[in-house]
Amino acid sequence: MIVHLLGTGSADGWPNPFCRCQSCTSERAADRTRCPTAALVDGCLLLDAGPTAAAAAGRFGTSFAELEHILITHGHPDHLAPDFLLWRSWVNPGFTLHVWAPPESLNRCRDWIGPNDDVLLHPIEAGEELTLVTRSGDYAVRVLPASHATGDGDVLAEEAVLFDVTAPDGHRLFYATDTGPFGAALLDQIRGRCFDLVLLDETFGTKFDHGHGHLDLDTFAKAVQELRDINATTEHTDVVAIHLSHHNPPTEQLRAQLFACRARIVDDGTAIEVGQRPIRNSHHFILGGARSGKSHFAETIAAKSAHVTYLATGYPAGEDPNWNARITAHRRRRPGHWRTEETIDLVAEIEGAAAGSCLVIDCLALWLTRTLDDIDGWSTDPQVSEMAQKDVRQRTTQLIAALHNTRAEVILVSNEVGQGVVPETSSGRLFRDLLGVVNAQVAQNCRQVTFMVAGRAVPLVELTTVRG
Ligand SMILES: [Zn+2]
Ligand SMILES: [Zn+2]
Repeated sequence: MIVHLLGTGSADGWPNPFCRCQSCTSERAADRTRCPTAALVDGCLLLDAGPTAAAAAGRFGTSFAELEHILITHGHPDHLAPDFLLWRSWVNPGFTLHVWAPPESLNRCRDWIGPNDDVLLHPIEAGEELTLVTRSGDYAVRVLPASHATGDGDVLAEEAVLFDVTAPDGHRLFYATDTGPFGAALLDQIRGRCFDLVLLDETFGTKFDHGHGHLDLDTFAKAVQELRDINATTEHTDVVAIHLSHHNPPTEQLRAQLFACRARIVDDGTAIEVGQRPIRNSHHFILGGARSGKSHFAETIAAKSAHVTYLATGYPAGEDPNWNARITAHRRRRPGHWRTEETIDLVAEIEGAAAGSCLVIDCLALWLTRTLDDIDGWSTDPQVSEMAQKDVRQRTTQLIAALHNTRAEVILVSNEVGQGVVPETSSGRLFRDLLGVVNAQVAQNCRQVTFMVAGRAVPLVELTTVRG
């Protein structure tokens, strides 16, 4: 099951286009926009169809060309803007599209179905079980009651619903947006479901006087705990907060807060490969050639944190005046309140780091050099060399485990040395190969990776899950 999040925002999106609050300003500065919440499952099943869903599919590298079913939670316009249905009749895909929605929402779709277009409408209500037949297998869907108290004067004259979706590959998704705290009836129906992915409403952030139709950071945390208590989720479940509004703190702050209840946020356009372990950390890996600006970039990111420890992995100052001058220059650049440690025992430092603090590891190439020095890794004796390589692999595994377990943010710097000519010496080749392996493994376990070229930072595709 692959879930493309076409939107993760509330009705007004985040930032709200009219708003100048700190949260909106900060998201704008970070070039981040969240559009109304919708999700595309395996390209064939759309969950909610708000005003930006169709455009988002194109923007995020997918499409509705294979769409066979649409499930609508309720008729609020951020979840159903049915005009896009007309566009289908201009194409004639040659197979049926099924729209499943509460009756009032379905009525709103009727006017937008093109003449002779093969679209079937199916009314649904909470408590029903559906089988959605697709060309790539059947999806089992349970329609569940939302607690979307709409209040007086609301245009919505029907009950909103949530969806429990099991894909042909067995993976199970709980799509739960536009709901307040779960009622006892709902909890009973999802007891023991062991969802792989939960997409859960967290509209109101730190605004707590909003009625009962949505969740805020407090009620979200409670809902996550309730799901865990009844085994609707397990320790492997990926819980992602959606329907986010500007009442939330800026994304980076929100990310840290959600981390505390083992949930996360992702950007609009993220494709979640269900069943993979979600990356919940904020680690950043910075890779580049010599003098590409890596250290400087790492320091710029770390400067946003209040508590920073700088781990210098190179040899301490000694006889070589050039090396000493470089160390002094680097040190002068760093703020006075940063703690500096000269060490290659990275695992101990990461394990000992306080939650919310920041570690800068500069750099893994020097760490590898010194490690190989320590374990006689440059030896030309094949047996000694093989043992040393095994040792490096073990240390790398320990480093990755430490990166997983820590609640600190770790910024790692390393050299990209594999792009030049093949080194002439066997030790040169060994170093190049080992560093390539270390870099690849670290990159697989950091949410962000940046490649530095000529002083410019090139962000690589953000990682949201890791295999295994
Ligand atoms: Zn909504
Ligand atoms: Zn709504």
